Amino acid sequence: MSVAVSNLSVDYRGHGPDLHAVRDVSFVIPPGKMLGLVGESGSGKSTVAFALMGLLQANARIISGDMQIGGRSYDLTKNATAPLRGHGLAMIFQDPLLSLNPVFTIGAHLIEILRVAAPGESAGRRRAMAEEALAKVKLTDPRRRLDQYPHELSGGMRQRVVIAMALLAKPVLLIADEPTTALDVTVEASVMREICALRDELNCSVLLITHSLGLVTKYCDDMAVLYAGEMLEQGPARAIQRRPGHPYSRLLLDCEVAIDQPRREPAMANSFKVIGGELPDLRRPVSGCVFAARCDRAVADCAVTVPSAVRLDEEGRHKARCLRIGAS
Ligand code: ATP
Ligand code: MG
Repeated sequence: MSVAVSNLSVDYRGHGPDLHAVRDVSFVIPPGKMLGLVGESGSGKSTVAFALMGLLQANARIISGDMQIGGRSYDLTKNATAPLRGHGLAMIFQDPLLSLNPVFTIGAHLIEILRVAAPGESAGRRRAMAEEALAKVKLTDPRRRLDQYPHELSGGMRQRVVIAMALLAKPVLLIADEPTTALDVTVEASVMREICALRDELNCSVLLITHSLGLVTKYCDDMAVLYAGEMLEQGPARAIQRRPGHPYSRLLLDCEVAIDQPRREPAMANSFKVIGGELPDLRRPVSGCVFAARCDRAVADCAVTVPSAVRLDEEGRHKARCLRIGAS
């Protein structure tokens, strides 16, 4: 089933004017595909994830947006996707402990999911299914793990348990928010492989949120570039890598090449800083392009005219919002 998000806008209330964290964001993730959502810290990536899951904090307000899953439409402003959490929708957080209850064993977590996902099965069969799921995500010694508690496992092992939980929940959409940022680089590749294996086995849509363009170009089918809550470019990851349409995407990719370090994650985190300047104040109304103040290609018009999406391929899958596309 295809997953489509349309016109998502989210504000946060606080002292003073509302903060416009996400503005009019839309994307589609076909079944069995992974979309990489990139953007620097504060660009609104987690806000998108939490809005889809119905997990936003109390001071957040979804101004507009809906999500279509298969043929059905869910109104995000009414938190309509919250009942899908745990089966239609699953999420992997940067910290796996957010998904694990310290007083329950690993087995109890998996069996709890099977109570909903496989209600007809006996207790013994559910235990066997839980063990199989742990073996599938390549957790060593799966039978023993069932009786262990989250604190007895390493970070990478815990993240595998959370992936096994998602495998049993059989979601239509899996959201992974910086799933490897807290892990060793050696563990990162294996956790990414398990997420890809899960996508292939369930033929589900995956939204991978990351700072790392390296991860996106390696593992994702499509890429979406978020900046100050707005989608500046989206399309097939290879196409954006080969021919970025937006100056911001180009700068990010240049940084990726220029910073030739063995560990990619900090390199990418730094690369956002390598692009001079900071995100605009999200409480103030923006005129023109949100990236204009930091853009090396900006002309006077960029500060006043809001760019609309320009198609960069025949099918309209690759789009970027920049007035300077085509200008020399
Ligand atoms: P990071 O890469 O650091 O995780 P992000 O792209 O996930 O960043 P968000 O966490 O979605 O960014 O935050 C987007 C904006 O919304 C930021 O300016 C952030 O400070 C603000 N924000 C997030 N949560 C709240 C909240 N509960 N109340 C007010 N502002 C918030
Ligand atoms: Mg975040």
